[in-house]
Amino acid sequence: MQLLKDRIRKDGKIRGTEVLKVDSFLNHQMDVTLFDAIGAEFKRRFSDCEINKILTIEASGIGIACLAARHFSCPVVFAKKSQSSNISDEVFCAKVESFTHGKVYNVIVSKEYLHPGDKVLLIDDFLANGEALRGLASIVSQSGADLIGAGIVIEKAFQPGGDSLRASGMRVESLARVAAMSETDGITFVD
Ligand code: 5GP
Repeated sequence: MQLLKDRIRKDGKIRGTEVLKVDSFLNHQMDVTLFDAIGAEFKRRFSDCEINKILTIEASGIGIACLAARHFSCPVVFAKKSQSSNISDEVFCAKVESFTHGKVYNVIVSKEYLHPGDKVLLIDDFLANGEALRGLASIVSQSGADLIGAGIVIEKAFQPGGDSLRASGMRVESLARVAAMSETDGITFVD
């Protein structure tokens, strides 16, 4: 998605070799017009699929998922990060290791909001090692719903998540795939 790649080149800040900061339009201040275009692009890419629910993870996925949901005309469910180790049997739960903080935490979704027969699209802002998507996919599987695929805004393709999830059979559509980045040379995209 050229508009997105241009914006990442213009406003993205590279931190070391691993982290891309896009706080000015995605992770802190949000460019809702861009989010709407991102939602339209997800809809175009998954136009061959029946989707009746979007599942994302708090906090950064929520805004993107909401704008995407306008194009799919479906509700958004967001997985909540839980500090508690005491997990009720009213929720589906998965462990996720945070890329940015390195901590392992539980993510939970109430059993009220995912059911067998649901056709679920996962949405997230970044794909790095694939932990967040794996956790969300586990929750979908626990619920008996069908996982249709995942829509990602920025995939760091030099990290292993995308390849390993695709190899496991997940359909992953990423709108900008970063091939390499460095503070000195900037960003190159896969295509
Ligand atoms: P993964 O679970 O695939 O290892 O990492 C994805 C999650 O970590 C995303 O939900 C995102 O919030 C965060 N993340 C991973 N890499 C980056 C990055 O370079 N920049 C930002 N802002 N978030 C990232």
